[in-house]
Amino acid sequence: MTWVERNRVQIEKIRSYVLGFQNTRPPVFEWFQGGREPLFPLTPESDRGTALLLCYCALYQNIRPEKLIRVLAYLWKEYDVDFFRLNKLPFEDLQSRMRRLTDLEDWVLHPKVPGILRSVCDFFFKHGRLAPWIQAQGDGETSVGILCDEIFMMGKTSAFKSKPRYFLWLLTQLPGAEPAGFWSERTMLPITPGHLRFLREFGPLKNRRHSPWVTPEEKLSYCNRFFRMLAPENPWTVYAPLDAYLKSNGFSKAPQFPMVATTGKNAQADTERKWLCRDILGGCLQCALAPDCPGREEL
Ligand code: SF4
Repeated sequence: MTWVERNRVQIEKIRSYVLGFQNTRPPVFEWFQGGREPLFPLTPESDRGTALLLCYCALYQNIRPEKLIRVLAYLWKEYDVDFFRLNKLPFEDLQSRMRRLTDLEDWVLHPKVPGILRSVCDFFFKHGRLAPWIQAQGDGETSVGILCDEIFMMGKTSAFKSKPRYFLWLLTQLPGAEPAGFWSERTMLPITPGHLRFLREFGPLKNRRHSPWVTPEEKLSYCNRFFRMLAPENPWTVYAPLDAYLKSNGFSKAPQFPMVATTGKNAQADTERKWLCRDILGGCLQCALAPDCPGREEL
């Protein structure tokens, strides 16, 4: 018998757990209009909001989300809507503005930010509105490939290609999105530490001493087969629930891609709640996985 055949009951419990997250939004949306701490006069689903999300994803590497969003908010203040014309404006100005941010010197991408943003703006000029462009490709993997090919540092040489995959997933979360139009059979989600924790506790990695993959590509495919088995019609719905599994609600000092953000003023309460999954579900009592979860609160 396969793992799936042996674990029918467990799979239904996981699907119940996933359902509990259906009304959550990606934390990055909280910094847009309609969110808890708006820094930009844009909704995430607007054309410019979606463009800004692509900038965010292109720069999302070895930096905490709340720090990265402050960089973008600073540049927005400097340029306003000209932000999307950075490829046409003097490069030296952008470089000197970035140099003013002295607390970013330990960020590996810091010297490359001007080049990355110009490259993203070139992409807007070439392809126009992003959501219709993605829909027109009709295949997420094709879109991932083009994003990597055309945007500087977007993941061309990475086996995981987490940045464009994360962007595609963010598009599935926009109000009014129609992911079925671009999330083709072969489209894959990025994988996170939360996903791997979940697979080790409730999935086919439990009690395995060795990983069933050798290469990063095999690892990505393996995890995505699990996601698709859980939600064959809409695999993107699995990303947030599994990512949140036993994920600390506070910010880590050494972030791993992609992290989930919480706002500063809620940090104290969030830390007390400890895990993001528990916070979102409103406590372990609401959770279908509680009887088997090593992280459940003692009742
Ligand atoms: S910590 Fe609580 S909410 Fe999170 S998976 Fe475990 S039982 Fe469920």
